[in-house]
This record gives sequence, C-alpha cells and structure tokens, in this order.
Amino acid sequence: MNSSRRKLIQVVAGAVIVGGGLTGIARGSSDLPRPPGALTEEEFLARCQRCMRCVDACQPAALSVAHLTDGLGNVGTPVLNIDKCIQCMDCVRICPSGALSKVSKKDLRMGVAVIHESACVTYLKKRRCKTCVDACREFKAITLKDRRYPVVDTEKCTGCGACLRRCPERDKGALSMDITKIKRFDPPKDRFLAQLDSRTEEVAPVPFGEWLAKRLDTLAEVYGIKK
Ligand code: SF4
Ligand code: SF4
Ligand code: SF4
Repeated sequence: MNSSRRKLIQVVAGAVIVGGGLTGIARGSSDLPRPPGALTEEEFLARCQRCMRCVDACQPAALSVAHLTDGLGNVGTPVLNIDKCIQCMDCVRICPSGALSKVSKKDLRMGVAVIHESACVTYLKKRRCKTCVDACREFKAITLKDRRYPVVDTEKCTGCGACLRRCPERDKGALSMDITKIKRFDPPKDRFLAQLDSRTEEVAPVPFGEWLAKRLDTLAEVYGIKK
C-alpha cells in the first residue's frame, strides 16, 4: 500500500472514530438510571428542564447530575443511585416539568426483590428469620410459604428496597434486587387513558338525550342564562 493511500485511510478512520465519539456524546447514554416516576427516556429528556430541583430535594443524596461524559443530551439531568433511594417521592413532588410523573408509590417498579435460597438462613434451616416479611409491611409483597419460607410476589413488589436494607444476611447474598426492568411511564394523557382502559367497575350507559340535556343545563348555569 503506498503512503498516500495509507494516509487517506488513516484520515477516514480518524474521522469515523471522532465522528462516532461525538455522535455518542451527543446522543448520550440511554440507560442512565432515573428517579422514580420518570417518563420513558425520550419524553423524559424532552421535558426535563435541568433545573436540578429534584437533586436538591433528595435528602438521602440518591440523585446526582449527569455530566458531559454521560452524553450531551443528558447534561444536567438527574441520575439515580438506586441503593440510596428510599422512595420518599420528594423529587416527584417538586419536579415542575412533568418529567417525573406523579404516580403513587405502589405503581412504581424500581426493581424486584430476589431471595436467594442458597444464602438465606431460613432456607438453610440455620434459624427462622422473617425480617424481610416485616420490612415489607407497606406492600405485603413477601409472604411465608409453609409458614416459614419467605417468598416474593413479583407482581406486588415495587422495588422499594426496604427488605434489602434490613436483611441481616444481605452481605452474604441472601437478598438482592433485580433492576433490569425498571418501569418508565408514559406522559400523563396516555396514562390517564390507560387507567380508563383498566377500570374494572361497570359504567352505566347514559342515553344521549339525557346526557345532552344535562350538559346544556350545566352550560346555562355556568354562563348565567338559566331561568
Ligand atoms: S424518591 Fe426520595 S430518595 Fe428517591 S430519588 Fe426521589 S427524593 Fe431521592
Ligand atoms: S426537577 Fe424535574 S425538571 Fe428539574 S431536573 Fe429534576 S427531573 Fe428535570
Ligand atoms: S423491595 Fe419493597 S416491595 Fe419489594 S419485597 Fe422488598 S420491601 Fe417489599
């Protein structure tokens, strides 16, 4: 290969690497852990004002601010340290932009607790322990099988981490948190519709004439033209 051709290849390769790097920085990491209630990543990035109010509000310091190395698009957005989050929801309450959806704690799925039978003292029959069951009083996601062995109901578990923080055998790996499927939320309008879809109670149909008369009545009242 002659030297001018080699130079050309080196220049092109360099441009590809630099371009790829810049594109990567501009695009950013798409898997940054976000605070509870965060919308799906695209919606979250579009709404987040980078105001850092959530970071300031977080008492356990579970939130930090994304830097340039996390990608240009992420700079200034909050990043969650899931181990420190106690799901107090202060960040959600203070967020002015809707980037963090005002969902209730029981709708969060920040992970799923996993009990490891090979390390849990109860399963190992060393002694009876139900610390995790007691820790999960709020969601009642851990019950005792055969009145002895703790079992996690993955549907009910919100990933709050209370059981993990209290497990006396945590260091030995008796309990861990699977955080591979953290739930992200749709923007409020879609969520409202989704909630309507999931309504279980029957809504009695109202005849159109009755519905219209009631609406006209209300409008007349609002505009002060009701006799
Ligand atoms: S829920 Fe509470 S602890 Fe968790 S990130 Fe938000 S403010 Fe911090
Ligand atoms: S409070 Fe809301 S808008 Fe402000 S940085 Fe946090 S997530 Fe973004
Ligand atoms: S993570 Fe929270 S909700 Fe899930 S089992 Fe543990 S204490 Fe219960």
